[in-house]
Amino acid sequence: MTTASTLLREQGLRVTAARVAALDVLDTAAHLSTDEIATAVRERIGSVSVQATYHLLDALTAAGLVHRVDLAGFPARYERRATAHHHLACRGCGHLVDVDCSAEDGPCVHLADRQGFAVERAEVIFWGLCP
Ligand SMILES: [Zn+2]
Ligand SMILES: [Zn+2]
Repeated sequence: MTTASTLLREQGLRVTAARVAALDVLDTAAHLSTDEIATAVRERIGSVSVQATYHLLDALTAAGLVHRVDLAGFPARYERRATAHHHLACRGCGHLVDVDCSAEDGPCVHLADRQGFAVERAEVIFWGLCP
């Protein structure tokens, strides 16, 4: 099993207690907001500010270790699930659920006209109301 500190080193990132804790937190739960991650990291290592959590999540996202889901009207969520998937999102409460992608490789949504783009993937958010 690859540990969080190995992953950080492989991406050329400095290994800090907060970064390791954030990766560990996201291993156990998906779709957490920055506030939720800051709270969980604090439980593990004692103290970290929300501002510091924003910065470390930016670094982890830029390095590809974490994926950010931007939801209009709700705080961004973070997850570590690497395989292609889409999301069901509730416009009422912001609840987010994973749905599998129907394609193993490449985008599962096909465009009538790619306009010259080399399309690598598609991210779909299915908006509606949760049960
Ligand atoms: Zn809802
Ligand atoms: Zn997800």
